[in-house]
Formats: sequence, C-alpha cells, structure tokens
Amino acid sequence: MFCYQCEQTTRSANGDGCASARGNCGKDATTSDLQDLLIHALKGIAQYSRRARDLGHGNNAAGNFLLYGMFTTLTNVNFNAARFISLLGEASRLRDDARIAYEAAALARGVASETLSSGPAQWQPAADQAGLLAQAAEVGVDAGIDTVGADVVGLRALVLYGLKGVCAYAHHAHALGYESDEIHAGVERALDFLASEPTELDQLLEQALALGQLNLKVMELLDAANTGRFGAQQPTPVRVSPVQGKAILVSGHDLGDLFALLEQTRDTGINVYTHGEMLPAHAYPVLKAFPHLAGNYGGAWQDQQQDFADFPGPILMTSNCIIEPQPRYRQRIFTAGPVGWPGVRHLENHDFSQLIQAAKALPGFREDAEEKTILVGFGRDAVLGVADKVIDAVKAGAIRHFFLIGGCDGAAPGRNYYTDFAVQAPQDTVVLTLGCNKYRFNQHDFGDIGGIPRLLDMGQCNDAYSAIKVASALAEAFDCGVNDLPLSLVVSWFEQKAAAVLLTLLALGIRNIRLGPTLPAFLTPNLLGVLVDKFGIQPIGDAQADIDAALQRKAA
Ligand code: SF4
Ligand code: SF4
Repeated sequence: MFCYQCEQTTRSANGDGCASARGNCGKDATTSDLQDLLIHALKGIAQYSRRARDLGHGNNAAGNFLLYGMFTTLTNVNFNAARFISLLGEASRLRDDARIAYEAAALARGVASETLSSGPAQWQPAADQAGLLAQAAEVGVDAGIDTVGADVVGLRALVLYGLKGVCAYAHHAHALGYESDEIHAGVERALDFLASEPTELDQLLEQALALGQLNLKVMELLDAANTGRFGAQQPTPVRVSPVQGKAILVSGHDLGDLFALLEQTRDTGINVYTHGEMLPAHAYPVLKAFPHLAGNYGGAWQDQQQDFADFPGPILMTSNCIIEPQPRYRQRIFTAGPVGWPGVRHLENHDFSQLIQAAKALPGFREDAEEKTILVGFGRDAVLGVADKVIDAVKAGAIRHFFLIGGCDGAAPGRNYYTDFAVQAPQDTVVLTLGCNKYRFNQHDFGDIGGIPRLLDMGQCNDAYSAIKVASALAEAFDCGVNDLPLSLVVSWFEQKAAAVLLTLLALGIRNIRLGPTLPAFLTPNLLGVLVDKFGIQPIGDAQADIDAALQRKAA
C-alpha cells in the first residue's frame, strides 16, 4: 500500500506516506490497495460518461455512483475490503454500460466514437482478490513517480484528493435529494483528466483550481439541500449534558439519516444525541422541532473510542470519521451510507429498526446530568441577519478583526495551537468557526461584543459555503475585496473534504491562509513554493505570534 492522503500519514526521513501493512488510521494494505483500484475503475466510468454527456446523454445514476464510490475512499470512511470487491464488480458493469451508452450516443449523432484502447476504460476486474491486488499495484497514487517525478505525482494527488472531497460533499447533497448536471459533468471531467495521466504542472494546477470552483457550486448545492430540507440555521442553545432515558448517539455529517432516525424514534421514549460533526443539526428548525433531539454528547471524532465506550446506548455512524470500534461498543455501533467496518452491522435505506431495538435493550442514562449548554447556529442567514450591527461595530472600532478558525480536528499534539489561538484572540475580535476543529474551544466562554457573540459557530465543514457568503457580503458592505477585510483564515486540515475547501478558497483568490497542523505530505517543496508565491499560504507557528502578525498585517 501507499497512501499519503491525510494529515496523520507517516512522516519519515526516507519519505512520507503510510506504506506498511496498515496505515495510521487503521486501514489495512488490502483495503487501501482495493481503494486505489476502485479509483481506477471510477476513472473508466467517467471516461465514457463524460463523452456521452458531451453528446447530450448525461447519466446521473452513474454520476451518483462516482460520488458514492469516491466517498468510500476518504480517510476514516470505509475499512471493509469485502465492500470494495463488490464495488469493483459494480464499477466494471457500470463502465461497460457507460461505453455502450457513449457509442450509441455517438452513432445517434452521426459522429465517430473515440476508441479508448487502454487504461481505466479497458480495465477488466481480475477473478479473485489476489488478482485484484496485483492490478492495484499498478495504479496506486504514486504510480510512475520514477518517470514523471514527485511534483507531478504530488499535483495529481492534490487533484485526486480535492476531487474526493468534492464528491463527498456532492454525495451529501444527493442524499438529501439534490443533484446537478453541471456538478456531475465537473466530476466526470476531473476523473477523465486524471485518467489521461497528465504531466504538465500548469495544467494540473489549473485543474486543481477548477475543482475549487466546482466545489463552490457543490457547497452551494449542499447549502440549498440542508436549508431546503431543514430550514435556515438559527442561533440555538444546545444541551451538552445528558438527560435520563434510553439513548441513541448519531455521528458523522448526514442530516438526512438523523432526520429519518428522529422520525422513527418519535414517541418511543428514546432520546437522540448528536456527536462530532452532527452538532449543528440542533440549529435547523425542522430537526430541532423534534423534542427528543436531546443534546450533544462527547467531542470531535478522535475522541470517539472513549465517547462511544461511555455512551449507554447504540451508536450510528453516518459518514466520516469512523475509527476502529473497540470491544466495549463493537456490538452496539452501526454504520450507514458510505461508511463501513468489517463485522459492524450496516443499515440500508434509512431502516433503523435494529438500532432502535438495540436502544430499547440498553440502559440509557440513569439520571439527568447538571444542565450545560453551548450556542450553535450562526449559519449565513443568522450572521447576515445582524450584518448591520456587525458592520456598525466594525466601523465604530468595537470589532477590530475576524478570525475564521475552522476545519478538521485530529489527534496531533500541534492542534493545541487552535485552542490557544481562539482563546488568546483579543477581546475586540470575533471568532468564526466551522468543522469539528471547534471542539477545541467551543465550551470556552468568549463573551460578546455589544450583544454579538464573540464565537460564531457556522456549522459543519459542510457549511463552508456560509463562511464564504458572509465574507463576500462583508467585502461588499465595506466596498473592498475579501483579502482587504479585517479577516484572517486559520485552517486546520485532516482529510480530503478540507482539501476541497482549501482549493475553493484558493480559487476565490483568498490569500495568506494559515494552514496546519502540518502541511500535506503530497505537496513537495517545489509545489509548496508555488502555493506560497501564488497564494501566500503559510504554515501555522506560535499562536500569539500568528495573532499579532495577522493584526499587524491588516493594520498596515
Ligand atoms: S488515510 Fe491517512 S492514515 Fe490512513 S493510510 Fe492514508 S495517509 Fe495513512
Ligand atoms: S470535519 Fe473533517 S475530520 Fe472532522 S469529522 Fe468532518 S470529515 Fe472528519
């Protein structure tokens, strides 16, 4: 196996990347290699689907399979090798269908169809796992590095990992019933581009930024899906201490799963708690109307082994980020959607009856804990609803600066930086946050500035669109560019959704982003030089020094 797609990859003087029998996330070599082969197979579908779509015969069902398939390969999503073998079979059949559809479309148009005589378009799945693994060895992310060099492989990886994030977000939107031809076309184009084994650095960088633009559309669609289904987020206090009664814990990002579970547990006496990135669910009017959506439990994804072991009920993992289920809760954790772990029960089609049965059989919380709450729900509507007040506060000097401290959390010790940064930010500054990184500081009392809370939780990483809309609206109000606002972005990355959001920020021309806790291993020194030159990306340093530098830069 060779994988360097996430922040916790192995770093070593001999080269970075997880390359032994098991990655640091727990992904074994077989699963990792089968994931590489699945990416190869998905490229084959896209090669034909893209061409058919160009002839007016788009196939969104195949497009949705691309989104789902890509999502299964993100960090901490699916660890089940058997699932990948079955997805490979499905991919091969869909690729054959896509070829037939393309050739028929070309015939109907009276144009010659292109013959794609090698690579993913022609791949045939081997008959057994050993054969599939032999095929996978030829198509890993570092394939051809001796010929094309580390810079090309690194930029291909940036495109691939950004695209994985794009697909994950688009899958979330599709799960709520929202999709778009334009997004399917963009995904197919990007996979087709990767299938062509590009070697030009400029072209690869251009494709990476094009993906950033595509991701903006995807995030807009996801925002429309979330708000269309569940209403606009509203500022809402969320209980973070349990109440007496039977209980189910829901983690991940899929609001549709949560909604279906809330409906199925209505009037059963079972309370539903959110975990990790599900926290923002409490701010959506349709979801918070369920009285048994009782509160939020635990911390960010990396705390799950302790949180889940302590929780006295079953757990549903709806998307990233799952880590190895421990014996203390292995029998009471369930997966849904793209998630998988060998031996863990997987629930299909929003049928949560097994989960509900498990909740009835488990003790739940025996008593109420002392009530504690935190405030969530500052999506774009809530923030822009008080835009006049915010703008006046900036003009009067009451708000000196905004820090957007967002992204993924993780277990690396350097992540204390984000806690220090938020807590040490001066009292006349406002902290905007999104993603699970917020668990580092969201129970800290930040106070307010003239009634505007100093900590504004904008939601999941899936809600990055909100932050972009707020930044654009502020820039418009102050008649300047986003880079001229008193705003600094301090981004914490862990996996490929964050890579997609980063590409979006770069595509929008946003400069001087602080990125940490470490820089991506797939970016070679040369590539980092390009990002520093073009976009002013900087690694995180000392929290206080970085705060001072941000304030001075804006004051200059
Ligand atoms: S996902 Fe991250 S930790 Fe897991 S194998 Fe890949 S680089 Fe290593
Ligand atoms: S923000 Fe990133 S690290 Fe956190 S749960 Fe979501 S996908 Fe995982």
